[in-house]
Amino acid sequence: MWRFLILLAGPVFLVWGSYALTVGRSVAQTVNAAHDVLNASADFDVRDLRSRVEDGLAALPKFNDRADRQRKLAMACDSRAAELTKHLDASFQIIARPPYVLASDDEESSLDRHYRDTIQPTARALSLMLFDHEPDEPITILLFASERSYQDTARRLDRRSTASYHGYYIRPDRRLMINASTGEGTLSHELTHSLAHFDFPNMPEWFDEGLGSLYEESSFSKDGLRLLGQSNWRLNHLLHAMHHRKLGSLEALLASRSIRSEQQATDYAHARYLCLYLQERELLPLFYRKFRANAAFDPSGVQTLREVFNAPSIDAIDRDFRNWVVDVYERTRKVARK
Ligand SMILES: [Zn+2]
Repeated sequence: MWRFLILLAGPVFLVWGSYALTVGRSVAQTVNAAHDVLNASADFDVRDLRSRVEDGLAALPKFNDRADRQRKLAMACDSRAAELTKHLDASFQIIARPPYVLASDDEESSLDRHYRDTIQPTARALSLMLFDHEPDEPITILLFASERSYQDTARRLDRRSTASYHGYYIRPDRRLMINASTGEGTLSHELTHSLAHFDFPNMPEWFDEGLGSLYEESSFSKDGLRLLGQSNWRLNHLLHAMHHRKLGSLEALLASRSIRSEQQATDYAHARYLCLYLQERELLPLFYRKFRANAAFDPSGVQTLREVFNAPSIDAIDRDFRNWVVDVYERTRKVARK
């Protein structure tokens, strides 16, 4: 019986004993260490410590990365503005409003108006709705007060003839050229390209032009948080192609590597109205972000489009899209008759 009790209690006693010794020792060590630190602190020189405050702060790792990036961007904008003065004559006013460098040959107040009423609210709404990467390089926006100065400068700076359009975006320079005498639509269109360039640089041309032209005719929601595209003159090109049974499939539009120059008007309208269709189905931000994430293995967007519509095939989406285009036409006719 005793042997049995010793066998049972012995190991328990041994385990408890070693635990008590270990804990006891570690508590004693901690107390001693605290005493050491207190005693040692008496050796520091207060003036010396004070003199190290600034050095210590400067040596800390930078958590305020954003402020640092903004400072660099502001400096880059200032030097871009200085560079621009060499290429534009004295009639141009140039101001830096990071990430933008704005220049105009219109009256002084017009630059502020474009910035306050179009550029800033458009960029804000698009960054809330679609774009997650903010610009980290300057975007230069040249606004021309007349057709004449727009044409002259386009020819001189870019060797371009711009007879058939009111603005364009030079990707390598991140520079917008806008004939401001034609209204704000072109500015919104080209600004969308420049912001998308930071966020989704490998976006296919159909989507880039679809989005740009969607926002050329748009208005802000009451709270200013969203920008909503509306039907515009491009609908006629789409209806014309549909009427003559010449509208290609959605799949062909998405799969095309670039917009075909001989069919530019129809392709732009097709891409724009697909974006408007996505917007009306409340799927545009979802499609945009999913497409951006999937672009490496779905560069055309066909799979992503099918996925967001949960459609068995793209033909089913195409049929619904074409019927919706007719609905839009009916709606605009009713409004026109009122
Ligand atoms: Zn465009």
